[in-house]
Amino acid sequence: MAVDTTNQIDKMQQLAVIMSAKNFDASALIQTEFFPDCLQNLNTQQCKSVCEALAEPNYSSFVNKKGPLGGYTPLHWMCIKNEYDLIEMLLVKCKADINSCANLGESPLFICIKNCNLYTIELLIQHGADLYHRDIYNRSLIHWCAYTGKVILMYYFEKYHSINNLNDVDQFQQSALHIACASGFSDLIMYLIDRGDIDFFLKDFNGNNCLHMAAKCGLSRICWILTKQNKGQCAKLIGDMNNQSQTPFDIIRNEKGSQYKKIRDWLRLEAKTNKYLLYNENNYDKKSDTLYSGSSSSLLKIKKGTFWLNWNDDFKMRLDWYTRLFVVLILFVIPMLINRYLIYPGELSLIKGIVGFTTYIGLFYVMVGQRHRCTHISAYQNPFYVGLIVNLFISNYSSYYLIILDYNQFFTLLEMTKVGLALYHNLFFYWVLTSDPGKCKESHKKPDGTSYELRDLLKLNAKDSKGGKDSIDWLTDPPSFGGTDKPIQLPQLFFCEPCLKVQAVPTKHCKLCECCVSKFDHHCLFIGKCVGLKNHRLFMLFLLSALISCTVFIYTVYTYFYSFNEGLIASNKDKKDEDKIDFIYVLFTSTDHVWLVVLLLINAFIIIMVFFLFMFQIKFISLGYTSQIRPPVFFVQTNRRMQTLFGSVIHRLENIFTFLFESCDSNLELYFKQQREYNLSITSEKPIALSYDPYPRDNFDKKSNTQLLLPKENPNKQFEIDLD
Ligand SMILES: [Zn+2]
Ligand SMILES: [Zn+2]
Repeated sequence: MAVDTTNQIDKMQQLAVIMSAKNFDASALIQTEFFPDCLQNLNTQQCKSVCEALAEPNYSSFVNKKGPLGGYTPLHWMCIKNEYDLIEMLLVKCKADINSCANLGESPLFICIKNCNLYTIELLIQHGADLYHRDIYNRSLIHWCAYTGKVILMYYFEKYHSINNLNDVDQFQQSALHIACASGFSDLIMYLIDRGDIDFFLKDFNGNNCLHMAAKCGLSRICWILTKQNKGQCAKLIGDMNNQSQTPFDIIRNEKGSQYKKIRDWLRLEAKTNKYLLYNENNYDKKSDTLYSGSSSSLLKIKKGTFWLNWNDDFKMRLDWYTRLFVVLILFVIPMLINRYLIYPGELSLIKGIVGFTTYIGLFYVMVGQRHRCTHISAYQNPFYVGLIVNLFISNYSSYYLIILDYNQFFTLLEMTKVGLALYHNLFFYWVLTSDPGKCKESHKKPDGTSYELRDLLKLNAKDSKGGKDSIDWLTDPPSFGGTDKPIQLPQLFFCEPCLKVQAVPTKHCKLCECCVSKFDHHCLFIGKCVGLKNHRLFMLFLLSALISCTVFIYTVYTYFYSFNEGLIASNKDKKDEDKIDFIYVLFTSTDHVWLVVLLLINAFIIIMVFFLFMFQIKFISLGYTSQIRPPVFFVQTNRRMQTLFGSVIHRLENIFTFLFESCDSNLELYFKQQREYNLSITSEKPIALSYDPYPRDNFDKKSNTQLLLPKENPNKQFEIDLD
């Protein structure tokens, strides 16, 4: 033993000498027993000299040598390290075996899939990698893709290599859908569902179906979507049992967390109302009058007749949605009408006023608790804010026509103007509600009119210094918009995984609308849709009309109170009472007044909010960008027209003019024009230092602002589009 240990230590010391940076000896390293596993610790330059040595005839026998650490060959190690050029060298010069397997049967292709590197994947396939290889667990390429959770990989193999055996199972009877559900990859699950030919009822070696696994992961929305597949046939998954006689409900019965509670409540309801239970003698316990799903060991059981209202889940979903839409109406307008017409009309003003105020506090409480999506398991978009706006209009108009308006004065110019304004405002609201923000259903178009494909994106982005050939993460994330001092590659392409399309900034995907929107600005909760290229102008006009309408309403309420007070003073003078009237007295003279004051406050609040939103929007529109895609760091310094205050104002007015009066295409072109100008100016000339700061840059990296890095040569060439 002692001899062995010293021997081992000697070898290690020997290896340390060989691997030291000073006298690195590739050929000596190849002959040690630690080859090829020692490649793991070498840098790119050292790896390169090893590969060069392997190309020599003397060492060609070592090219396919498997190391003791998992049985990886040099090719495997280069795939693990993402060394594109060295993989190519091993394949071309050294004639490495492209399909050699490691101990678990991983081929180099599987390693590249695990690394999510589409560049090395494509390289291996070009050199004849076996697409139908399986590892020792009988897992195919589809399974390895599923483990990464990347839609882009699955899409690549399906589109370019016709791999579409998505129901393929491994040794554990697991399909890609099982793996995606067990790991919680929502995007991948949605991709698989959309393929259309997935077998949802496949069971793995434990008898679990995809719903068991999705429930275990707490993917409430995915669970809901899964059961809606195959025209509702997949609802049978709910009663499906695994080898331990457990339904999906039983699997999560002890899990903590709101998402599990949501799934449990929903499963219980579905089982009760839709009878997915397997009715037979064994499932019915006569003593307790209870039905079981599948077997008596399952906890998903219902007592016959305990469900008093036969509301199914679909009905509950609608109820949730409509409640949110009309909750403001219920809390705001209806109490006022009841107060006014039903309970002692014209009396008990003080009590009614206090009750009224309490309701508004309740309304505020409800408002604060709202989220982007409904709490129902379907997670639909929450219509609360749309309801808020609609109900505010209803409140304003009804208070105007019921309380404020003196019908003797109705046909005066002032009142008719107000009616006209309200009509216009409603029309704008209707238009903006039904508008198309500029949905992108097609991929971005090349100059010759054809669409970009994933492969074009790979070719273009391979040159980019940010991503290069190391990873595909940034292929699916749109490039960052600010904080760059390098030329911007135009068009800035990215792959939208939910849409499976190649898009170009400033297009962005909206998760709530589930589509890509051209020149995306933001998703507006108050109109329930995105604001983008095609409805941005309409949205701004709507904001303007909202500002005017709210101001007119406040003015109207003010004049009403003023004349009411005047009237009180006049009538009191007759009685020779006090001269001044207390505001509180005016307020609680009538319940109507409480209502008006609250409306006054809400309208004032809306004016402030809308005003700031409006100015914020104008700021970016005048710069030719959107609030989502902000100008690059040096935009102002490098744009010659922005160098003087006068030039800056003219430039901004020009952009606003384009925004208001020119077509959508010119507005989109404006963005690209700005980016091209920006690219040109930072590469061709030195910017002049500014004497004032017209554009606040707090959001951006301050360090990179201090100094402009000018590339030595003209790097513009590097960024020209070159597809061939
Ligand atoms: Zn999209
Ligand atoms: Zn949206």
